[in-house]
Amino acid sequence: MDEARLSSDRSKIVKHLETIDQRAAELYKNIGNAPTEQPRLALSYIEALANALEELRVVEEEVCEHNEELHQARQQLEDERRRYQDLFDFAPDGYLVTDIHGKIHEANRAAAELLNVSQKHLAGKILTNFVPEEQRRVFRSLLLQLRVIDRIQEWEICLIARNKPRFEAAITVAAVRDAEGKAIGLRWLIRDIGARKQIEAQLQQMQLQNLELLEADRLKAQFIATMSHELRTPLNAILGFSSVLLRHFQQRFEPQQFNMIERIFENGRHLLSLIEDVLDFSKLRSNQLELRLEAFDLPDLVNETVAELRPLATHKNLCLQVHLAQDHFSVTNDRVRLRQIVVNLVSNAIKFTDEGQISIQVDLLPGERIAIAVRDTGIGIAEADLSFIFQEFRQANQTMTRTHGGTGLGLAIAQALTDLMGGNIVVESALGQGSTFIADLPRQVRSSTHKLL
Ligand code: ADP
Repeated sequence: MDEARLSSDRSKIVKHLETIDQRAAELYKNIGNAPTEQPRLALSYIEALANALEELRVVEEEVCEHNEELHQARQQLEDERRRYQDLFDFAPDGYLVTDIHGKIHEANRAAAELLNVSQKHLAGKILTNFVPEEQRRVFRSLLLQLRVIDRIQEWEICLIARNKPRFEAAITVAAVRDAEGKAIGLRWLIRDIGARKQIEAQLQQMQLQNLELLEADRLKAQFIATMSHELRTPLNAILGFSSVLLRHFQQRFEPQQFNMIERIFENGRHLLSLIEDVLDFSKLRSNQLELRLEAFDLPDLVNETVAELRPLATHKNLCLQVHLAQDHFSVTNDRVRLRQIVVNLVSNAIKFTDEGQISIQVDLLPGERIAIAVRDTGIGIAEADLSFIFQEFRQANQTMTRTHGGTGLGLAIAQALTDLMGGNIVVESALGQGSTFIADLPRQVRSSTHKLL
Protein backbone atom coordinates (compact mmCIF):
# COMPACT_ATOMS: atom_id res chain seq x y z
CA MET A 1 0.00 0.00 0.00
CA ASP A 2 1.67 3.19 -1.09
CA GLU A 3 1.35 6.85 -0.36
CA ALA A 4 -0.26 7.61 -3.76
CA ARG A 5 -3.13 5.23 -3.12
CA LEU A 6 -3.77 6.65 0.33
CA SER A 7 -3.94 10.20 -0.95
CA SER A 8 -6.25 9.20 -3.86
CA ASP A 9 -8.63 7.51 -1.35
CA ARG A 10 -8.52 10.58 0.79
CA SER A 11 -9.30 12.93 -2.12
CA LYS A 12 -12.20 10.70 -3.29
CA ILE A 13 -13.84 10.86 0.15
CA VAL A 14 -13.30 14.61 0.30
CA LYS A 15 -14.85 15.00 -3.16
CA HIS A 16 -17.95 13.03 -2.19
CA LEU A 17 -18.35 14.88 1.04
CA GLU A 18 -18.09 18.15 -0.83
CA THR A 19 -20.83 16.99 -3.27
CA ILE A 20 -23.12 16.07 -0.38
CA ASP A 21 -22.38 19.38 1.29
CA GLN A 22 -23.08 21.27 -1.92
CA ARG A 23 -26.43 19.48 -2.51
CA ALA A 24 -27.49 20.10 1.07
CA ALA A 25 -26.65 23.82 0.70
CA GLU A 26 -28.65 24.03 -2.55
CA LEU A 27 -31.66 22.32 -0.91
CA TYR A 28 -31.47 24.69 2.02
CA LYS A 29 -31.22 27.71 -0.29
CA ASN A 30 -34.18 26.66 -2.46
CA ILE A 31 -36.54 25.91 0.41
CA GLY A 32 -39.28 28.56 0.22
CA ASN A 33 -38.27 29.87 -3.22
CA ALA A 34 -40.80 27.87 -5.17
CA PRO A 35 -43.09 25.98 -2.91
CA THR A 36 -44.67 24.12 -5.82
CA GLU A 37 -41.29 22.98 -7.03
CA GLN A 38 -40.21 21.81 -3.57
CA PRO A 39 -41.30 18.19 -3.69
CA ARG A 40 -39.59 17.69 -7.06
CA LEU A 41 -36.44 19.47 -5.91
CA ALA A 42 -36.45 17.56 -2.64
CA LEU A 43 -36.76 14.31 -4.56
CA SER A 44 -33.88 15.14 -6.89
CA TYR A 45 -31.68 16.25 -3.99
CA ILE A 46 -32.51 13.15 -2.00
CA GLU A 47 -31.61 11.09 -5.07
CA ALA A 48 -28.35 12.99 -5.39
CA LEU A 49 -27.71 12.46 -1.71
CA ALA A 50 -28.44 8.72 -2.03
CA ASN A 51 -26.01 8.50 -4.96
CA ALA A 52 -23.36 10.38 -3.06
CA LEU A 53 -23.86 8.11 -0.03
CA GLU A 54 -23.66 5.02 -2.24
CA GLU A 55 -20.40 6.23 -3.72
CA LEU A 56 -19.19 6.99 -0.24
CA ARG A 57 -19.95 3.41 0.77
CA VAL A 58 -17.98 2.13 -2.21
CA VAL A 59 -15.08 4.33 -1.23
CA GLU A 60 -15.39 3.12 2.35
CA GLU A 61 -15.19 -0.45 1.14
CA GLU A 62 -12.11 0.38 -0.90
CA VAL A 63 -10.57 2.03 2.14
CA CYS A 64 -11.27 -1.11 4.21
CA GLU A 65 -9.65 -3.21 1.52
CA HIS A 66 -6.64 -0.95 1.46
CA ASN A 67 -6.45 -1.08 5.20
CA GLU A 68 -6.37 -4.85 5.02
CA GLU A 69 -3.52 -4.69 2.48
CA LEU A 70 -1.74 -2.21 4.70
CA HIS A 71 -2.05 -4.58 7.62
CA GLN A 72 -0.67 -7.46 5.58
CA ALA A 73 2.23 -5.37 4.33
CA ARG A 74 3.02 -4.41 7.93
CA GLN A 75 2.93 -8.05 8.94
CA GLN A 76 5.32 -8.97 6.13
CA LEU A 77 7.62 -6.18 7.15
CA GLU A 78 7.57 -7.39 10.73
CA ASP A 79 8.33 -10.98 9.62
CA GLU A 80 11.26 -9.73 7.56
CA ARG A 81 12.51 -7.70 10.48
CA ARG A 82 12.30 -10.74 12.74
CA ARG A 83 14.13 -12.85 10.19
CA TYR A 84 16.93 -10.30 10.01
CA GLN A 85 16.95 -10.05 13.77
CA ASP A 86 17.38 -13.83 13.97
CA LEU A 87 20.14 -13.75 11.39
CA PHE A 88 21.78 -10.98 13.36
CA ASP A 89 21.31 -12.77 16.66
CA PHE A 90 22.42 -16.24 15.62
CA ALA A 91 25.22 -15.25 13.25
CA PRO A 92 28.45 -17.10 14.12
CA ASP A 93 30.43 -13.85 14.14
CA GLY A 94 29.99 -11.00 16.52
CA TYR A 95 27.83 -8.13 15.24
CA LEU A 96 27.47 -4.79 16.97
CA VAL A 97 25.64 -1.60 16.16
CA THR A 98 27.11 1.49 17.79
CA ASP A 99 26.84 5.23 17.47
CA ILE A 100 29.75 7.03 15.86
CA HIS A 101 31.53 7.27 19.21
CA GLY A 102 31.47 3.50 19.62
CA LYS A 103 28.66 3.37 22.17
CA ILE A 104 26.96 0.01 21.76
CA HIS A 105 23.26 0.04 20.82
CA GLU A 106 22.80 -3.53 19.79
CA ALA A 107 24.85 -6.70 20.04
CA ASN A 108 24.18 -10.21 18.84
CA ARG A 109 24.79 -13.39 20.85
CA ALA A 110 28.19 -14.08 19.31
CA ALA A 111 29.38 -10.58 20.19
CA ALA A 112 28.10 -11.05 23.75
CA GLU A 113 29.98 -14.35 23.99
CA LEU A 114 33.16 -12.88 22.53
CA LEU A 115 33.17 -9.99 24.99
CA ASN A 116 31.77 -12.17 27.78
CA VAL A 117 29.01 -9.69 28.62
CA SER A 118 25.30 -10.49 28.22
CA GLN A 119 23.54 -8.95 25.23
CA LYS A 120 21.36 -6.86 27.52
CA HIS A 121 24.32 -5.45 29.43
CA LEU A 122 26.36 -4.73 26.35
CA ALA A 123 23.89 -2.06 25.27
CA GLY A 124 25.21 1.30 26.44
CA LYS A 125 28.80 0.13 26.91
CA ILE A 126 31.63 1.85 25.08
CA LEU A 127 33.45 -0.45 22.67
CA THR A 128 36.76 1.33 23.28
CA ASN A 129 36.73 -0.10 26.81
CA PHE A 130 37.20 -3.57 25.36
CA VAL A 131 40.37 -2.45 23.58
CA PRO A 132 43.66 -2.76 25.49
CA GLU A 133 45.04 0.51 26.82
CA GLU A 134 47.98 0.63 24.42
CA GLN A 135 45.79 0.23 21.33
CA ARG A 136 43.09 2.70 22.28
CA ARG A 137 44.68 5.71 20.61
CA VAL A 138 44.78 3.91 17.29
CA PHE A 139 41.24 2.66 17.85
CA ARG A 140 39.95 6.17 18.48
CA SER A 141 41.61 7.43 15.34
CA LEU A 142 39.86 4.60 13.48
CA LEU A 143 36.52 5.85 14.83
CA LEU A 144 37.34 9.34 13.59
CA GLN A 145 38.33 8.06 10.16
CA LEU A 146 34.93 6.39 9.81
CA ARG A 147 33.29 9.78 9.65
CA VAL A 148 34.86 10.24 6.25
CA ILE A 149 35.51 6.75 4.93
CA ASP A 150 32.79 4.13 4.54
CA ARG A 151 34.43 0.96 5.64
CA ILE A 152 37.44 -0.59 7.32
CA GLN A 153 38.02 -4.21 6.37
CA GLU A 154 39.56 -7.04 8.43
CA TRP A 155 41.44 -4.82 10.79
CA GLU A 156 43.44 -6.95 13.23
CA ILE A 157 43.37 -5.84 16.82
CA CYS A 158 43.38 -7.26 20.35
CA LEU A 159 40.20 -7.19 22.41
CA ILE A 160 39.76 -7.84 26.11
CA ALA A 161 36.72 -9.85 27.05
CA ARG A 162 35.38 -9.33 30.58
CA ASN A 163 37.30 -11.51 33.09
CA LYS A 164 39.06 -13.30 30.28
CA PRO A 165 42.44 -13.08 28.61
CA ARG A 166 42.70 -10.84 25.59
CA PHE A 167 42.09 -12.36 22.18
CA GLU A 168 43.02 -11.47 18.65
CA ALA A 169 40.15 -10.25 16.52
CA ALA A 170 39.59 -9.15 12.96
CA ILE A 171 37.20 -6.22 12.76
CA THR A 172 35.23 -5.02 9.77
CA VAL A 173 33.33 -1.82 10.38
CA ALA A 174 30.98 0.12 8.11
CA ALA A 175 29.56 3.58 8.65
CA VAL A 176 25.79 4.13 8.48
CA ARG A 177 24.94 7.52 6.94
CA ASP A 178 21.85 9.71 6.88
CA ALA A 179 20.32 11.23 3.75
CA GLU A 180 22.90 14.04 3.84
CA GLY A 181 25.74 11.53 4.00
CA LYS A 182 26.57 12.28 7.62
CA ALA A 183 27.82 9.26 9.61
CA ILE A 184 25.16 8.47 12.21
CA GLY A 185 26.20 5.04 13.34
CA LEU A 186 28.59 2.14 12.87
CA ARG A 187 28.04 -1.53 12.14
CA TRP A 188 30.74 -3.86 13.41
CA LEU A 189 31.65 -7.39 12.51
CA ILE A 190 34.03 -8.94 15.04
CA ARG A 191 35.70 -12.29 14.40
CA ASP A 192 37.92 -14.18 16.84
CA ILE A 193 41.01 -15.05 14.81
CA GLY A 194 43.04 -16.55 17.68
CA ALA A 195 42.83 -20.09 16.29
CA ARG A 196 43.63 -18.91 12.78
CA LYS A 197 46.61 -16.92 14.06
CA GLN A 198 47.87 -19.92 15.97
CA ILE A 199 47.66 -22.10 12.86
CA GLU A 200 49.37 -19.38 10.83
CA ALA A 201 52.17 -19.20 13.39
CA GLN A 202 52.53 -22.99 13.37
CA LEU A 203 52.57 -22.98 9.59
CA GLN A 204 55.22 -20.30 9.56
CA GLN A 205 57.23 -22.28 12.08
CA MET A 206 56.89 -25.39 9.96
CA GLN A 207 57.90 -23.51 6.82
CA LEU A 208 60.93 -22.23 8.66
CA GLN A 209 61.80 -25.71 9.86
CA ASN A 210 61.24 -26.99 6.37
CA LEU A 211 63.65 -24.41 4.99
CA GLU A 212 66.17 -25.37 7.65
CA LEU A 213 65.73 -29.03 6.79
CA LEU A 214 66.11 -28.32 3.09
CA GLU A 215 69.25 -26.35 3.81
CA ALA A 216 70.56 -29.13 6.07
CA ASP A 217 69.73 -31.62 3.35
CA ARG A 218 71.51 -29.52 0.76
CA LEU A 219 74.55 -29.24 3.01
CA LYS A 220 74.47 -32.97 3.65
CA ALA A 221 74.29 -33.72 -0.07
CA GLN A 222 77.13 -31.29 -0.69
CA PHE A 223 79.17 -32.87 2.09
CA ILE A 224 78.54 -36.37 0.74
CA ALA A 225 79.43 -35.29 -2.77
CA THR A 226 82.68 -33.67 -1.62
CA MET A 227 83.60 -36.54 0.64
CA SER A 228 82.89 -39.14 -2.00
CA HIS A 229 84.97 -37.22 -4.45
CA GLU A 230 87.82 -36.88 -1.95
CA LEU A 231 87.65 -40.58 -1.10
CA ARG A 232 87.67 -41.62 -4.72
CA THR A 233 90.98 -39.97 -5.51
CA PRO A 234 93.20 -41.95 -3.06
CA LEU A 235 91.15 -45.07 -3.67
CA ASN A 236 91.85 -44.88 -7.38
CA ALA A 237 95.55 -44.73 -6.55
CA ILE A 238 95.23 -47.83 -4.35
CA LEU A 239 93.32 -49.64 -7.09
CA GLY A 240 95.72 -48.48 -9.77
CA PHE A 241 98.85 -49.57 -7.92
CA SER A 242 97.42 -52.87 -6.68
CA SER A 243 96.32 -53.76 -10.22
CA VAL A 244 99.83 -52.94 -11.51
CA LEU A 245 101.27 -55.22 -8.80
CA LEU A 246 98.81 -57.94 -9.77
CA ARG A 247 99.53 -57.72 -13.47
CA HIS A 248 103.27 -57.09 -13.62
CA PHE A 249 104.86 -58.43 -10.50
CA GLN A 250 102.94 -61.66 -10.03
CA GLN A 251 106.07 -63.87 -10.05
CA ARG A 252 107.87 -61.85 -7.39
CA PHE A 253 105.26 -62.55 -4.71
CA GLU A 254 104.60 -65.59 -2.60
CA PRO A 255 101.06 -66.96 -3.30
CA GLN A 256 99.93 -65.71 0.09
CA GLN A 257 101.26 -62.20 -0.59
CA PHE A 258 99.69 -62.28 -4.03
CA ASN A 259 96.39 -63.28 -2.45
CA MET A 260 96.62 -60.32 -0.08
CA ILE A 261 97.18 -57.89 -2.95
CA GLU A 262 94.22 -59.46 -4.74
CA ARG A 263 92.08 -58.82 -1.68
CA ILE A 264 93.28 -55.22 -1.49
CA PHE A 265 92.24 -54.81 -5.12
CA GLU A 266 88.84 -56.54 -4.74
CA ASN A 267 87.90 -54.68 -1.57
CA GLY A 268 89.11 -51.42 -3.07
CA ARG A 269 86.88 -52.04 -6.08
CA HIS A 270 83.94 -52.79 -3.85
CA LEU A 271 84.59 -49.66 -1.81
CA LEU A 272 84.80 -47.61 -5.00
CA SER A 273 81.43 -48.90 -6.20
CA LEU A 274 79.88 -48.03 -2.84
CA ILE A 275 81.35 -44.54 -2.96
CA GLU A 276 80.09 -44.16 -6.50
CA ASP A 277 76.60 -45.18 -5.41
CA VAL A 278 76.64 -42.63 -2.61
CA LEU A 279 77.89 -39.95 -4.99
CA ASP A 280 75.25 -40.78 -7.62
CA PHE A 281 72.54 -40.82 -5.06
CA SER A 282 73.52 -37.46 -3.62
CA LYS A 283 73.59 -36.01 -7.15
CA LEU A 284 70.19 -37.45 -7.95
CA ARG A 285 68.85 -36.14 -4.71
CA SER A 286 70.00 -32.62 -5.37
CA ASN A 287 68.85 -32.76 -9.00
CA GLN A 288 72.41 -32.39 -10.18
CA LEU A 289 72.51 -35.45 -12.34
CA GLU A 290 71.97 -34.75 -16.02
CA LEU A 291 71.40 -37.50 -18.53
CA ARG A 292 73.75 -37.65 -21.51
CA LEU A 293 71.37 -38.69 -24.21
CA GLU A 294 72.51 -40.59 -27.31
CA ALA A 295 71.07 -43.19 -29.69
CA PHE A 296 72.42 -46.73 -29.20
CA ASP A 297 71.42 -50.34 -29.64
CA LEU A 298 69.67 -51.58 -26.50
CA PRO A 299 70.06 -55.36 -27.11
CA ASP A 300 73.81 -54.80 -27.53
CA LEU A 301 73.98 -52.90 -24.25
CA VAL A 302 72.03 -55.61 -22.42
CA ASN A 303 74.15 -58.40 -23.90
CA GLU A 304 77.40 -56.62 -22.95
CA THR A 305 76.20 -55.92 -19.41
CA VAL A 306 75.00 -59.47 -18.89
CA ALA A 307 78.33 -60.79 -20.20
CA GLU A 308 80.15 -58.73 -17.54
CA LEU A 309 77.90 -60.07 -14.78
CA ARG A 310 77.79 -63.67 -16.00
CA PRO A 311 80.87 -64.74 -13.99
CA LEU A 312 79.07 -63.79 -10.77
CA ALA A 313 76.09 -65.99 -11.74
CA THR A 314 78.29 -68.84 -12.89
CA HIS A 315 80.16 -68.62 -9.60
CA LYS A 316 76.83 -69.39 -7.84
CA ASN A 317 75.81 -72.02 -10.44
CA LEU A 318 72.95 -69.84 -11.62
CA CYS A 319 71.63 -69.88 -15.14
CA LEU A 320 71.47 -66.38 -16.65
CA GLN A 321 69.20 -66.03 -19.68
CA VAL A 322 68.47 -63.09 -21.98
CA HIS A 323 65.25 -62.74 -24.02
CA LEU A 324 65.15 -59.89 -26.48
CA ALA A 325 62.10 -58.70 -28.43
CA GLN A 326 64.43 -58.10 -31.41
CA ASP A 327 68.13 -58.75 -31.88
CA HIS A 328 68.77 -55.10 -32.56
CA PHE A 329 66.84 -51.93 -32.03
CA SER A 330 67.81 -48.44 -31.19
CA VAL A 331 66.84 -46.36 -28.18
CA THR A 332 67.74 -42.84 -27.07
CA ASN A 333 68.91 -42.71 -23.50
CA ASP A 334 71.98 -42.24 -21.31
CA ARG A 335 73.95 -45.40 -22.05
CA VAL A 336 75.92 -45.35 -18.77
CA ARG A 337 72.86 -44.73 -16.61
CA LEU A 338 70.69 -47.32 -18.35
CA ARG A 339 73.50 -49.82 -17.92
CA GLN A 340 73.62 -48.85 -14.23
CA ILE A 341 69.91 -49.73 -13.84
CA VAL A 342 70.44 -53.12 -15.52
CA VAL A 343 73.55 -53.81 -13.41
CA ASN A 344 71.70 -52.95 -10.18
CA LEU A 345 68.73 -55.17 -10.99
CA VAL A 346 70.74 -58.11 -12.32
CA SER A 347 73.36 -58.02 -9.56
CA ASN A 348 70.58 -57.92 -6.95
CA ALA A 349 68.95 -60.92 -8.65
CA ILE A 350 72.25 -62.81 -8.49
CA LYS A 351 72.90 -61.66 -4.92
CA PHE A 352 69.51 -62.78 -3.60
CA THR A 353 69.25 -66.07 -5.54
CA ASP A 354 70.94 -69.23 -4.38
CA GLU A 355 69.59 -71.66 -6.93
CA GLY A 356 67.54 -71.62 -10.10
CA GLN A 357 67.79 -69.03 -12.74
CA ILE A 358 67.75 -65.38 -13.61
CA SER A 359 66.28 -64.01 -16.81
CA ILE A 360 66.43 -60.60 -18.43
CA GLN A 361 63.66 -59.85 -20.85
CA VAL A 362 63.54 -56.77 -23.05
CA ASP A 363 60.22 -55.91 -24.70
CA LEU A 364 59.02 -53.24 -27.07
CA LEU A 365 55.75 -51.87 -25.76
CA PRO A 366 53.04 -49.91 -27.53
CA GLY A 367 53.35 -46.14 -27.27
CA GLU A 368 57.08 -46.13 -28.04
CA ARG A 369 58.04 -47.61 -24.71
CA ILE A 370 60.34 -50.40 -23.65
CA ALA A 371 60.26 -52.75 -20.67
CA ILE A 372 63.28 -54.37 -19.08
CA ALA A 373 62.19 -57.17 -16.76
CA VAL A 374 64.63 -58.99 -14.46
CA ARG A 375 63.24 -62.22 -12.97
CA ASP A 376 64.86 -64.47 -10.41
CA THR A 377 64.00 -67.60 -8.47
CA GLY A 378 65.59 -66.25 -5.30
CA ILE A 379 64.51 -65.57 -1.74
CA GLY A 380 61.76 -63.13 -2.73
CA ILE A 381 60.55 -60.17 -0.69
CA ALA A 382 57.86 -60.17 2.00
CA GLU A 383 54.80 -58.07 1.18
CA ALA A 384 55.43 -55.76 4.11
CA ASP A 385 58.92 -54.97 2.80
CA LEU A 386 57.84 -54.25 -0.77
CA SER A 387 56.74 -50.74 0.10
CA PHE A 388 60.11 -49.54 1.28
CA ILE A 389 62.84 -51.42 -0.57
CA PHE A 390 63.06 -48.51 -3.04
CA GLN A 391 63.79 -46.09 -0.23
CA GLU A 392 67.41 -45.18 0.28
CA PHE A 393 69.38 -47.20 2.82
CA ARG A 394 66.43 -49.56 3.35
CA GLN A 395 66.84 -53.29 3.08
CA ALA A 396 64.13 -55.92 3.28
CA ASN A 397 65.65 -58.02 5.98
CA GLN A 398 68.36 -56.20 7.87
CA THR A 399 69.95 -59.47 9.01
CA MET A 400 70.48 -60.37 5.36
CA THR A 401 72.74 -57.37 4.98
CA ARG A 402 75.41 -59.13 6.98
CA THR A 403 75.42 -62.09 4.65
CA HIS A 404 74.73 -60.27 1.40
CA GLY A 405 76.34 -56.88 2.03
CA GLY A 406 75.16 -53.78 0.16
CA THR A 407 74.19 -50.28 1.17
CA GLY A 408 70.51 -50.24 0.31
CA LEU A 409 71.12 -47.62 -2.38
CA GLY A 410 70.95 -49.73 -5.54
CA LEU A 411 67.16 -49.72 -5.95
CA ALA A 412 66.80 -46.11 -4.81
CA ILE A 413 69.27 -45.13 -7.54
CA ALA A 414 67.57 -47.34 -10.14
CA GLN A 415 64.22 -45.81 -9.31
CA ALA A 416 65.51 -42.22 -9.34
CA LEU A 417 67.19 -42.86 -12.68
CA THR A 418 64.06 -44.36 -14.27
CA ASP A 419 62.13 -41.35 -12.95
CA LEU A 420 64.64 -39.04 -14.52
CA MET A 421 64.23 -40.89 -17.82
CA GLY A 422 60.44 -40.46 -17.66
CA GLY A 423 59.72 -44.05 -16.68
CA ASN A 424 59.06 -46.08 -13.59
CA ILE A 425 60.06 -49.28 -11.94
CA VAL A 426 57.83 -51.84 -10.25
CA VAL A 427 58.37 -55.08 -8.38
CA GLU A 428 56.34 -58.25 -8.03
CA SER A 429 57.54 -60.66 -5.41
CA ALA A 430 56.54 -63.01 -2.66
CA LEU A 431 58.73 -64.39 0.07
CA GLY A 432 60.47 -67.59 -1.07
CA GLN A 433 59.10 -67.32 -4.58
CA GLY A 434 61.55 -65.12 -6.43
CA SER A 435 61.14 -61.56 -7.64
CA THR A 436 60.48 -59.68 -10.85
CA PHE A 437 61.60 -56.09 -11.26
CA ILE A 438 60.28 -54.29 -14.35
CA ALA A 439 61.62 -50.95 -15.57
CA ASP A 440 59.21 -49.30 -17.99
CA LEU A 441 60.89 -46.53 -20.01
CA PRO A 442 60.24 -44.34 -23.04
CA ARG A 443 62.10 -45.63 -26.07
CA GLN A 444 63.27 -42.14 -26.89
CA VAL A 445 64.13 -40.26 -23.72
CA ARG A 446 63.90 -36.56 -24.53
CA SER A 447 65.34 -34.78 -21.54
CA SER A 448 65.82 -35.32 -17.83
CA THR A 449 62.56 -35.03 -15.95
CA HIS A 450 63.76 -33.86 -12.57
CA LYS A 451 61.66 -34.92 -9.67
CA LEU A 452 62.45 -34.59 -5.95
CA LEU A 453 63.25 -37.96 -4.41
P1 ADP B 1 71.31 -53.43 -1.45
O1 ADP B 1 71.18 -54.52 -2.46
O2 ADP B 1 72.59 -52.70 -1.53
O3 ADP B 1 70.94 -53.82 -0.08
P2 ADP B 1 69.16 -52.30 -2.92
O4 ADP B 1 68.56 -50.93 -2.86
O5 ADP B 1 69.65 -52.76 -4.24
O6 ADP B 1 70.26 -52.33 -1.84
O7 ADP B 1 68.10 -53.31 -2.43
C1 ADP B 1 67.36 -53.01 -1.25
C2 ADP B 1 66.84 -54.29 -0.66
O8 ADP B 1 65.80 -54.83 -1.49
C3 ADP B 1 67.84 -55.36 -0.54
O9 ADP B 1 68.61 -55.21 0.64
C4 ADP B 1 66.96 -56.59 -0.47
O10 ADP B 1 66.44 -56.74 0.83
C5 ADP B 1 65.81 -56.25 -1.39
N1 ADP B 1 66.02 -56.78 -2.75
C6 ADP B 1 66.43 -56.12 -3.86
N2 ADP B 1 66.46 -56.94 -4.93
C7 ADP B 1 66.04 -58.14 -4.50
C8 ADP B 1 65.85 -59.42 -5.14
N3 ADP B 1 66.07 -59.59 -6.43
N4 ADP B 1 65.40 -60.42 -4.37
C9 ADP B 1 65.16 -60.25 -3.06
N5 ADP B 1 65.32 -59.09 -2.41
C10 ADP B 1 65.76 -58.05 -3.11
